[in-house]
Amino acid sequence: MPDTSRRVATFTESVIRHMTRLANAHGAINLSQGFPDFDPPEVLKQAAEHAGRHGPHQYAVTWGAPAFRQALARKQSHFTGLSIDPDANIVVTCGSTEAMMVAMMTACNPGDRVIVFSPFYENYVADTILSGAEPIYVPLHPPAFRFDEAELRAAFAQKPKAIILCNPANPSGRVFTRSELQTIAQLAAQADAFVITDEVYEHIVFAPHLHTYFAALPGLFERTITCGSLSKTYSVTGWRLGYVIAAPAVIAGARKVHDFLTVGAAAPLQEAAVAGLNLPDSYYAELQASYRAKRELFLGFLGQTGLRFTEPEGAYYAMVDIADSGWTDDRAFCDWLVKEVGVAAVPGSSFFHEPVHNLIRFHFAKRPETLEAAGQRLIGLRERAAQAPGRV
Ligand code: GLN
Repeated sequence: MPDTSRRVATFTESVIRHMTRLANAHGAINLSQGFPDFDPPEVLKQAAEHAGRHGPHQYAVTWGAPAFRQALARKQSHFTGLSIDPDANIVVTCGSTEAMMVAMMTACNPGDRVIVFSPFYENYVADTILSGAEPIYVPLHPPAFRFDEAELRAAFAQKPKAIILCNPANPSGRVFTRSELQTIAQLAAQADAFVITDEVYEHIVFAPHLHTYFAALPGLFERTITCGSLSKTYSVTGWRLGYVIAAPAVIAGARKVHDFLTVGAAAPLQEAAVAGLNLPDSYYAELQASYRAKRELFLGFLGQTGLRFTEPEGAYYAMVDIADSGWTDDRAFCDWLVKEVGVAAVPGSSFFHEPVHNLIRFHFAKRPETLEAAGQRLIGLRERAAQAPGRV
């Protein structure tokens, strides 16, 4: 049998998705892979039912069904203050997972360097490798997960082609301030680099923090390739609807990459999703309020674990420090947690370039009763973990 490519040997399987399989195998409450255990709004379910019955069932326009692009352009123009053209600025993709891959393949030549903040959402490194680029890591220092301007400057001095910016950030929960974004913008302009943003958590931000759309900063639209998704905003992670928003010259390339990768996102679901994109502002306010309540509930339980943790400013993850329990191996800890405590988390080391083994990530995109059940199991975790026979 021939060998598979060297490329596939250069990155590992997703640890996040592995943890979901492990959670299922052990019947644990799954706070690892971030997706809701509640349904999308009723209007979306009704629209999906309608599309299932009446179609369309054949390919949509490869870069996105017109109705979807129009609704998306209207919604994103409203929230960003930009004037997004549905015909010139958008490619609809299979989730932001594809959007990021499309953005990277459109922006980068093989051998180019790309700045990735560490900890990072694990896809970014695979995206970088698959597009032939080489990551330059810049730490977001725990527990506050801020970058050091000098370290970022040094990374930009290596003349990267792009920087990947997840904001609000997975897994750290950071919402970058306007001033941090301006620093990134200034350095990116000096290096003439693209800024590829992943803004899938744009509507999950906890006051007083505010989300700033990078593309909407003065003069930055042309430099920015925005990747977004409907997954988190409308609780439809399985619909796989995402998008790239960028300047026409970038979109021209992105359309081709997307076309040859996947042809298009599911046509009936694009039609159905228009109902979500047309929801009034009150929907987003309610979404924020509901996530704030989940955050308060879950952080309340984390407070009873006896472990230290970073309060998230946005997104729906919390990073917990296991060092005080005496464990030094986050993977072994997560294994023990899933089997003995019945709660699944993601070992933090899968998000870090640096050898960090004292953090684990929980997500709280769950119904209150699920968070309550998981939370009850986590009370007193530090003591219990400290006394666990297999502690490493
Ligand atoms: N974004 C989610 C997470 O970080 C899920 C990602 C995925 O598995 N596609 O857990």
